[in-house]
Amino acid sequence: MKYILQIFAGSWHAEHDKPEDMIRKIEEISARIPVEKVIIGWNTDAAVYRTLGTYLHEKGIQMVLWLPVFTEISDVAETDQAVDLFGRPIETPVEQEGKAFVFSCPSSRRNIQAVKDVYERYFAECGFDGVFLDRVRSQSFVTGVSGVLSCGCENCRQVFRQKGVNTDAVREQYELKKDSFFDMSAYPADGQFVLDDPLAQRFFEAKEEIIAESVWDLSRFFKEKGLIVGLDLFAPVVSRFVGQNYGMITKYADFIKPMLYRRTDAPAGIGYEYALFEQHAPKARGRVSLPEGITLLETQLDAVGKVACGKYPGIEINYDKEIVRTDPDYIAESLAAVRRHGFEGAALCWNIMEAPEAHIEAADRQENEQR
Ligand SMILES: [Zn+2]
Repeated sequence: MKYILQIFAGSWHAEHDKPEDMIRKIEEISARIPVEKVIIGWNTDAAVYRTLGTYLHEKGIQMVLWLPVFTEISDVAETDQAVDLFGRPIETPVEQEGKAFVFSCPSSRRNIQAVKDVYERYFAECGFDGVFLDRVRSQSFVTGVSGVLSCGCENCRQVFRQKGVNTDAVREQYELKKDSFFDMSAYPADGQFVLDDPLAQRFFEAKEEIIAESVWDLSRFFKEKGLIVGLDLFAPVVSRFVGQNYGMITKYADFIKPMLYRRTDAPAGIGYEYALFEQHAPKARGRVSLPEGITLLETQLDAVGKVACGKYPGIEINYDKEIVRTDPDYIAESLAAVRRHGFEGAALCWNIMEAPEAHIEAADRQENEQR
């Protein structure tokens, strides 16, 4: 199995690890397991990528830029912020890991252009082989129902209308039905939910289309530059809430990294996101109980397996006593499950610079057991 290593090099202008330290870490890992790509971003210090790129290319490893799309860009470019269907700005959640996740509008031409401009301004000359688009989604239940019932800006309302969805009617339907708005008529553990209310269902489908169309635009832009395109996706069981349809969004993508995080008590963690749904729509009927342990991972891998592009499920390898309580056995059993599904590889997330030695050993151990 091939591996992708993910390195968080700090946000835009933040302090970052020295490239020599990154190289040492990659060296340590690639001596044990086959590394195919390194995803790194989104610091604007070009010197890091030049040093790292020279090293990686000598080793035949691809260097892929980690680029946030509908969050973070607002720090370095003018963007249009997302609003909910009630006309309120999506509230800013409590900061986690220095990231506040302020979402911008997914249909705004200005926002799409901002991503392209930021790439051109900071990263075009850094020797990247590809881009990895993160935050290609709406806000989740992290900010309550307001997060998922978005974006309701004037432009999005018009795009929804073109898709046959009247967002005023959707909002009224939610106000009338409250939790029952989220009643499910189907919720396969290895797929996406279907809402009982046709208007509610159509809203989520149209939101997926809006996000996919913007991702297609960006994907084509980067592919025309000869770059490969990867996408960071929520686990299938929670992806529809944030407007990610695996079959649709991946149309021009080369690979995906579904965030199959079972131990992450923060945004994108499967249990974390699902619990927020349960908390904000406790009376919704037809919900599933998430399977426990490795069974949860197996169901998500089954769902991911239906997509045609390269699949590198993301498993947390870093540790944090508050938000990522991983351990070596968790890493080994997760990677073994990915291997059993016969995918192209696995991604060690989301920052190898914070991965304990024992976790890297666990990855190495399960790799060698298979040889
Ligand atoms: Zn909008």
